[in-house]
Amino acid sequence: MKITKAKGEGQGQCLRCKQLGIWNRQWMSFLYEIEGKPGVYCKKCVDELRYIEQKESRDRFKT
Ligand SMILES: [Zn+2]
Repeated sequence: MKITKAKGEGQGQCLRCKQLGIWNRQWMSFLYEIEGKPGVYCKKCVDELRYIEQKESRDRFKT
């Protein structure tokens, strides 16, 4: 999972927080893009998505 800093200026909203119903607008410089996923994400969601992905890849490896 490749994570890069969000490009652009002004404010953006974390897509995952939005889906979870959390109003979370932040400056673009505090948001991140995830390769292969649309939108931008806050630090907290990046950490959570990374954790979920690692857990899923471990589960795949077990089977
Ligand atoms: Zn978020």
